[in-house]
Amino acid sequence: MSRRLRVLLVEDSDDDAQLLIRALRKGGYDLEFLRVETEGDMRTALAQGGWQLVISDYAIPGFGGPAALHLVQDLGLDLPFILVSGTVGEDQVVECLHAGAEDFLVKGKLARLIPAIERALRLRQERASRAMAEAHSAAKTAFVSSISHELRTPLNAILGYAQLLHRDRREPLSARHKERVDQILRAGEHVLRLIDDTLDLSRIESGAIAIAIEAVDVVEAMEELRETLEPMASKAGIALGFETEGSIGRAAADRVRFSQILMNLGSNAIKYNRPGGQVTFRVSSLVADRIRVTVHDTGTGIPADKQSKIFEPYQRAGQETGSIQGTGIGLVISQRLARLMGGEVGFTSVWGQGSDFWVEVPVHPSSGLSSTPSPRHGSGRPTAPREGRRLVLGIDDSPTGALLMGDLIDTLGTVDLITAPTVESAAELALSRRPDVIILDLDPGSIGAAALARIASGIGNTPVIGLCTMVRDRARGIPSGVRHLVAKPLNVDELVALLERLLQLSSP
Ligand code: ADP
Repeated sequence: MSRRLRVLLVEDSDDDAQLLIRALRKGGYDLEFLRVETEGDMRTALAQGGWQLVISDYAIPGFGGPAALHLVQDLGLDLPFILVSGTVGEDQVVECLHAGAEDFLVKGKLARLIPAIERALRLRQERASRAMAEAHSAAKTAFVSSISHELRTPLNAILGYAQLLHRDRREPLSARHKERVDQILRAGEHVLRLIDDTLDLSRIESGAIAIAIEAVDVVEAMEELRETLEPMASKAGIALGFETEGSIGRAAADRVRFSQILMNLGSNAIKYNRPGGQVTFRVSSLVADRIRVTVHDTGTGIPADKQSKIFEPYQRAGQETGSIQGTGIGLVISQRLARLMGGEVGFTSVWGQGSDFWVEVPVHPSSGLSSTPSPRHGSGRPTAPREGRRLVLGIDDSPTGALLMGDLIDTLGTVDLITAPTVESAAELALSRRPDVIILDLDPGSIGAAALARIASGIGNTPVIGLCTMVRDRARGIPSGVRHLVAKPLNVDELVALLERLLQLSSP
């Protein structure tokens, strides 16, 4: 079967052009070609477009192969370029190949012409597919991230107001209404998790997340994990156990992302367990240069016929219709993150008996024995109690955010809120009114970070609470003056409890 090929021939000799044309037709190409021998003609031909290949003589008086190659490149065209020449020095060949020519053939030895063309066309096709996939992936990430931003703003209001309704003491809801508000909260939180996870996965897939490998003290990471998971486990009636086998060094991992994987495996082991069940975290270093954390649970296990699906996005392996909430994205995110760190996630599971999920990462080259956990950073001393009412300064340029904050502070009774929608007003109020606590929005695009930089030197020890959406990246990019971080959408109870503590209010 003949294949169509549109070739631009840069050649000043009729005879040589005929030789090439014959060789191409013999090679099975249904040829369409144009012969040019000056830069002007070549420019005009390239402007017409539609070429699949350029074959150019190396030496043409007043023009020639290297100049023709530059022309193609200057015009930004990704056109395979093959040079043909009588006799030419090795230096020139190397120079042309470096400059981007696909191949270099010697006239009179055209046996390599067809394989060279096939290779050049194949490489061109591969480049085009790759560029298309990259553009597609970048467009998808931009789309997901803009959608997630658009969804988050109303979701902040839905979740914030539902929580305020739920805890309204002045006009309390009836038990039936509370149940319904609970449904709103549960559904809203599910949407929020879907947005977070989808955005995270899309950023990982497009290569948009940065992995910062450092020496991570695994024993310390397990301590933090225990603190975070304990409330969830005791609510579900699950006992948590922690074991280490042998001496454990430090892992070469991204601290935030490693914790995210452990959290995912750990919370799954609690979620898919049974009352009175057990979850055991075992840290081992059985394989040289690797540290493995195995999360063993005595839960439901995963049916054998569903096991091949659990690392696929949005697959919930039979849990779709059950009462356990989930998005089906956690494991695929964990696996991809582990691979980005040179590690792996895997599992074994027996239906009805339980599962062992594990994450393995490399040992850090500088690794010594695990240190004793370093003292946690202080959470900031509460301000001394003042006479009378307390004052909170809210720095937020979004009207909905400020409105929600006003309603929230209102529930505290003896606390007043002043809000600053600009960096200038924030500086003025922080210094003239001396608030007891400052709350600011740290999300990209909001004024919190700039305002803090402006007021930092003048506010002494005043506690600063930062509100921030990407709580998974909480270890990064948080200005040092922020002593307390609260995730957005707000958990009203969490923020109220923190304010009560910092303002030394006794909760009613
Ligand atoms: P999610 O838990 O949000 O549904 P994951 O990606 O974390 O999503 O897990 C995918 C699926 O794998 C879950 O829906 C569940 O069916 C199964 N699974 C994960 N961990 C466990 C476990 N420890 N025990 C039983 N099933 C599990």
